[in-house]
Amino acid sequence: MTDDLKTRLCDAVDANFDQQVKFLSDLTAHPSTRGNEQSAQDFMAAELTTRGYEVDRWQIDIEDIQHLPGFSPVLGPYDDAVNVVGVHKARSGRGKSLILNGHIDVVPEGPLDMWDSPPFEPRVADGWLYGRGGGDMKAGLASNLFALDALTACGFAPAGDVFYQSVVEEECTGNGALACLARGYTADAALIPEPFSEHLVTAQLGVVWFQVHLKGRPTHVAYAGTGSNAIEAAIPLIQALHEMEHRWNAAENRPDDYAHMDHALNLNIGKIEGGDWTSSVPAWCVFDVRMGLFPGQSIEAAKAEIEQVILDAARENAFLRNALPEIVYHGFHAEGYALSQDSSDNAAMAISALEQAHRSVTGTTLQREAITATTDARFFGLYADTPALVYGPRAEAIHGFNERVDLESLRRITKATAMFIADWCGTEEV
Ligand code: ZN
Repeated sequence: MTDDLKTRLCDAVDANFDQQVKFLSDLTAHPSTRGNEQSAQDFMAAELTTRGYEVDRWQIDIEDIQHLPGFSPVLGPYDDAVNVVGVHKARSGRGKSLILNGHIDVVPEGPLDMWDSPPFEPRVADGWLYGRGGGDMKAGLASNLFALDALTACGFAPAGDVFYQSVVEEECTGNGALACLARGYTADAALIPEPFSEHLVTAQLGVVWFQVHLKGRPTHVAYAGTGSNAIEAAIPLIQALHEMEHRWNAAENRPDDYAHMDHALNLNIGKIEGGDWTSSVPAWCVFDVRMGLFPGQSIEAAKAEIEQVILDAARENAFLRNALPEIVYHGFHAEGYALSQDSSDNAAMAISALEQAHRSVTGTTLQREAITATTDARFFGLYADTPALVYGPRAEAIHGFNERVDLESLRRITKATAMFIADWCGTEEV
């Protein structure tokens, strides 16, 4: 790519950046938590249509994906689970193809009184945009789209096919990205601008979600000795799970990407419910667990160990011994994925193109990072033979209060993405 084109792409991003921030703000105003993504997807479809992309908008059908590797058991109905893909077909088709992926779903905002300003009323202050989903990852949806706009503004289109994906379900199953694969969207590489501080993600963990259901015997608290407290029975099970977490994190179990991390795998008790009345011994308790896995660790083996740990702990408990807990899997069934293990030419070329783009924009070397979460990259990398590059802006408090994204970082990511597209796909005149 010529220096002249690099300069023109950067200038185009700068010229359109106010518009990009407005787009991000408008998109962040849609409270697209699980099941509520429709209006945000309408917005995305309209933006893609306006730009002349062919728009494919469809409701995910479990039947289409449940037999595929990477499928995760579903939490609720998929009546409102709609994916949007904007398609650019190259005229010449001589360049390599690319998937630009981002997720539209955001995690719940939590207690409103913990936010300094309402989570779905985005505001810009001191170079940051605040709002739930602004960083994770609507900024990435914006950088993908406005990077393509920068090419258009320079009079170019990618010379390879580009599939712009706005998917649902990233935060709980990944079935949105899986549905894109099932629909036939594949490419030579994928770019996912998740907010990891302008680093290239070299490895990501797997994640499994499960619920533990405990049943006790209700009784008046005055005769508590005759009942069984289902909430208190959860405590030793949680302790046993944390001991398992400790074992899994042991140095000898860590793959190279995570060798330097003492505690990459985190077990989180994310929700707990139980009981019906303050003066009744609770008859039931359900707690939800998230556990991480290393790349290469088998999900089936992990599940077998989790079940064994819970049952062993339950057998130590006088009551649970006779009413063993039930384990229900729902949500993430995600394997780990390491781009660092992809030795294909495509992976090497894509990483090299991104390194050059990053250096051109920032003047610095692209840093690499193994992350302790999962992303949709696993679908492309593990099940479609497509190197998936996770590279996005700096954000803070994602999944927390006062989530925010650094707008200058977003500007740099957009420029680097525009250069990456131009390099990877090549360009042809509009
Ligand atoms: Zn995300």
